[in-house]
Amino acid sequence: MKCVALVPAAGQGKRMGGAHSKPYLLLEGKPILAHTLLELERCPLVDEVVLMVERGEIERARASVVEEFRLQKVGAILAGGVQRQDSVWEGLKTIQDDCDLVMVHDGVRPFISQEMLARSIQGAVDSGASIAGMPAKDTVKLVSAQNMVLKTPDRKSVFLVQTPQTFKRDILLRAYRQAMEDGFYATDEASLVERLGLQVRVVEGSYENIKITTPEDLVVGEMILRKRSQRTNDAGGGL
Ligand code: C5P
Repeated sequence: MKCVALVPAAGQGKRMGGAHSKPYLLLEGKPILAHTLLELERCPLVDEVVLMVERGEIERARASVVEEFRLQKVGAILAGGVQRQDSVWEGLKTIQDDCDLVMVHDGVRPFISQEMLARSIQGAVDSGASIAGMPAKDTVKLVSAQNMVLKTPDRKSVFLVQTPQTFKRDILLRAYRQAMEDGFYATDEASLVERLGLQVRVVEGSYENIKITTPEDLVVGEMILRKRSQRTNDAGGGL
């Protein structure tokens, strides 16, 4: 079963402030994007990675991430589009017929684990479409443009969803073709699949699987990395 991972990393990172492009900001001395791609590289269930970056940063991504960290699975580095959905579509269009599953994972979500990747892929094999998510810890409100509360969904049924999101290739392709034809835009892949009336399964993500969006996230990211290396050290400590 062949699985290709599409990694959109072509955002301008306006919420981060500053002049530096977000995927190349360093976390423990390594670009955020390198952390993400190294985890995909280690996953035996992922066969190939297609990376989308800003048009002017293709060479930078190649030199400072793909070559620097000897990433063998990155088969192509493409220019992304105006919105995240356009960037993913650029990658999806290049995927060959021999591919069974397509995983989409944000370049700026570096804290995926091998277990999460396996759950995501298994969910897609079982159900056709799977997304990583976690139960909401806070109460969620739907709010009007005037900041007035419209509705409070029952918290037990509210999940915050993340990537990876993995799909049988034909399902994702059909959903994207339809959305692009209709000019329908959403902030994740599953929304496009839901429009077709198809079922999407939520598999367990992780509260650590944050998207590095604002400067505070970088501080939290450093803490997560420290905690992770502590866990690894503790696990190996008795040997
Ligand atoms: O827009 P958002 O912050 O949700 O971005 C999620 C991911 O999509 C990031 O990795 C970002 O680089 C990527 N993205 C993209 N092309 C865009 C906008 C965002 O590849 N036009």
